[in-house]
Amino acid sequence: MLNVHDLARRPGEMMRENLELTVPEFWGTAVIGIRPQEELDVELRLESVLEGVLVTGQAQSEARGECVRCLDEVVYELDANITALFAYPERAKAAEESGDDDEDEVFVIDHDDIDLEPVIRDSLVTALPFQPLCDRDCPGLCPECGIRLADHPDHKHDSVDIRWAGLQEAFGANQASDDTKES
Ligand SMILES: [Zn+2]
Ligand SMILES: [Zn+2]
Repeated sequence: MLNVHDLARRPGEMMRENLELTVPEFWGTAVIGIRPQEELDVELRLESVLEGVLVTGQAQSEARGECVRCLDEVVYELDANITALFAYPERAKAAEESGDDDEDEVFVIDHDDIDLEPVIRDSLVTALPFQPLCDRDCPGLCPECGIRLADHPDHKHDSVDIRWAGLQEAFGANQASDDTKES
């Protein structure tokens, strides 16, 4: 909660806030997110406008997750833009009643207090990558043995073992695999 008493009803007034917060709970998706107690740097600019208080700024933190290709840990520096309008209660109500239904969530100033947490959380979660990767070119895991290919750039399985090649030549091609019945 941030008190905006000094700004309220004084269009044109402006103030800056730098906040250092810790994340209260996991903020993220199934594949990546900010862990509880992780630090959060928030730089905000609060402007008094006709409808309320316009909050813009930046939030920075560190998210951790798993590479979707190789499952290695991914540490992601998050830098999210924040933009939110906190409206005076009567303005918020008017906007709601006019059926002005343009997706944007309306935040309300409650007795000169604004609750920044949902705004910061939404901005950060929206800035998370959908498909985190340890590296843009991560080659993933070997489909045959599951080894992490980035650690073993030369890893490969010969499609036909050299000894088998010799046997195949000796026995001809009709020794096709017998294990097709298995599944
Ligand atoms: Zn990877
Ligand atoms: Zn392999």
